Amino acid sequence: MLDLLRFNFMKNSVPAQAESQHQIMLDGVSVSYTLKRSPRRRSITLTVDENGLRVGAPWRSPETRIASMLEGHAHWITRKLAAWQARKPLPFTWETGAAIMVLGQPLTLLPAPARSNTTSDGVHLHVAAQADQPVMMAKQATLWLRSTALEWFGQRTAHFAPMLDVGVPDIRLSNARTRWGSCHPAGRVHFNWRLIHMPAPLIDYVVVHELAHLRVANHSPRFWHCVEQVLPDHKMRRKTLRLEGHRYLGAWGAIQTDVTEARSPDVTKWNPGVVPGLER
Ligand SMILES: [Zn+2]
Repeated sequence: MLDLLRFNFMKNSVPAQAESQHQIMLDGVSVSYTLKRSPRRRSITLTVDENGLRVGAPWRSPETRIASMLEGHAHWITRKLAAWQARKPLPFTWETGAAIMVLGQPLTLLPAPARSNTTSDGVHLHVAAQADQPVMMAKQATLWLRSTALEWFGQRTAHFAPMLDVGVPDIRLSNARTRWGSCHPAGRVHFNWRLIHMPAPLIDYVVVHELAHLRVANHSPRFWHCVEQVLPDHKMRRKTLRLEGHRYLGAWGAIQTDVTEARSPDVTKWNPGVVPGLER
C-alpha cells in the first residue's frame, strides 16, 4: 500500500489533518483513493470527482471502519467513477515538462531539436522538435507512441498466440473511437494504438480477448472459457480498463491529433471525451 503521509502541525503539535493514498478492491476493481483524516471531522465522507475518490474521516477512525464504509458503497463509487470517465478530460498542452502515460507510467516531454528521432529513456520522452513548435511535438510524439504500440502489441500477440493455440495473426493499429480492439474475418487483429497508454496487464487483456476471437468468433461461454484459461483474472482486468482506463488517457484524450503520416494512413481525428471500450 502506498502511504504518502503529509502532516500539518498546529502550534500545540496536534496535527490539523493527514492525507494518505490507498487502494482497495471494490466490485472486483482496484480503486485508488485519497484519505484525509481530521480531528475536527465526526463522520466518514465519500467524494467522487475528476480527481477520483476522496475519503474524509475522523482522526481515530479505524481502517476497518473506513474499509467497510467503502465496501458498503462500492456500487455507488464505481458508478460515479464510471460517470466521470465519460466526461471530457482537461486540456493538454504540448510543452516541456508535460507528461504522457506510456504503459501506465508517466513520460515527461523534453524537446530535443538536435535529434533526428524521438526516443525515450524510460523517464523522459526526448521529442525531436523545437520547444515552441507544439504541432511538431505532437506529431513526433505520436509517431513514437504508434511505433512503440505496434512493437509492444506484436510482442504480446506472439507471446499469447501459442497459449491460445492460434497462429500469430497480422496486427494493425487502429484509431477507432469506440473500440480498443477488433478481430477481422481474415484473421487480422486491430488494436487501438492509444492502448499503449495503459498498464501492461490491461493491454494483455485486450490482446488475449482478440486472440480468443480467432478461436471463437462470438462472446459465448466457450469464448470466455478460452480467455479464462490464459487470464484467470480477466474479469477484473476488463472492469479496471472500463473504470480506470481513462486516467491513463487523461489529458491525452483531449488532444486534437490531426496528424497524418505516410506510414499509418488510419490516423484520424481523436474525438475528445470518448473513451473506447471493447466491442460487445
Ligand atoms: Zn470480443
